[in-house]
Amino acid sequence: MRLSRINIVAALVVCVAFVSSGCNSETSGKSKGPYRITCTVGMITDIVRQVAGDKADVEGIIGEGVDPHLYQATRSDINKLMAADIVFYNGLMLEGKMADALVKVGRKRPVYAATEFVDKSRLLEPPEFDGHHDPHLWMDPTLWKKCAETIAKTLGEFDPANKSHYFKNYERYAQQIDKLHEYAQKSLSTIPEKSRVLVTAHDAFNYFARAYDLEVKGIQGISTESEAGLKDINQLVDLLVQRGIRAVFVESSVSDKNVKALVEGAAAKGGKVTIGGTLFSDAMGRPGSYEGTYIGMIDHNVTKITRALGGKAPQKGMQGKLSGG
Ligand SMILES: [Zn+2]
Repeated sequence: MRLSRINIVAALVVCVAFVSSGCNSETSGKSKGPYRITCTVGMITDIVRQVAGDKADVEGIIGEGVDPHLYQATRSDINKLMAADIVFYNGLMLEGKMADALVKVGRKRPVYAATEFVDKSRLLEPPEFDGHHDPHLWMDPTLWKKCAETIAKTLGEFDPANKSHYFKNYERYAQQIDKLHEYAQKSLSTIPEKSRVLVTAHDAFNYFARAYDLEVKGIQGISTESEAGLKDINQLVDLLVQRGIRAVFVESSVSDKNVKALVEGAAAKGGKVTIGGTLFSDAMGRPGSYEGTYIGMIDHNVTKITRALGGKAPQKGMQGKLSGG
């Protein structure tokens, strides 16, 4: 396991090297008409679409409810990546099983990590992740805004004729992200002090917890590759019962098996714990729906968490657009 992680890191380093060479050879010319961008996870696909506007056809390959930690690129994905003029991925080992594919594509196409220029001092390095950074940056809108800025800069270099278009789109979108962040701060601050513990299926919410002052416990580690042991589940059951935590959460891209075991374990010890809802951790909601956008996804999470843990937030969220389910 440890060896394979090292291999992934080595592969990504190679990938970055190809990125810079690809950048010089492939992106110096001017683009003609809409060009093609292929992205890995939905959260990146969405911000790239916001920034590119009508200048590019943007496609994502990891869809609704799909776990990026375990995702392996199919032949058709490789074709989509190879057919792109630019590729964006998250980086920080999120797409751990796609490292080889990204290296391969990086020899032919410019490949960029959206998280590359986020200030390293703002990245978390949880002890259980063997000295690597936590990849779930989208959980803190202020960090994801920085990634959107990186995308605007990258597109401006690729297509200099439309540089101002990309920056205008970025600025408009950044204002929406700021509003989302304000809504999250306001809503989550209403959760009573003793209930400010977020228990989820895997450790995707560290940045979210830091941004909004919550304590976070994931049953599985940073990557869903790790298995939750019986001991970990028993310890979490004790914590839920002792502290009277009323809700835990499942995630759309991770099996609910462990979370259900937690609720049953707590009930056996006299605790009243319910499932507070399904959160969007590493994948967005249905394409075409509000929850299928980055802003909708975070709005959904903030609203569900706030309400389930005893805080105050409107049922349909920040702008009345949530399905309320
Ligand atoms: Zn994750």
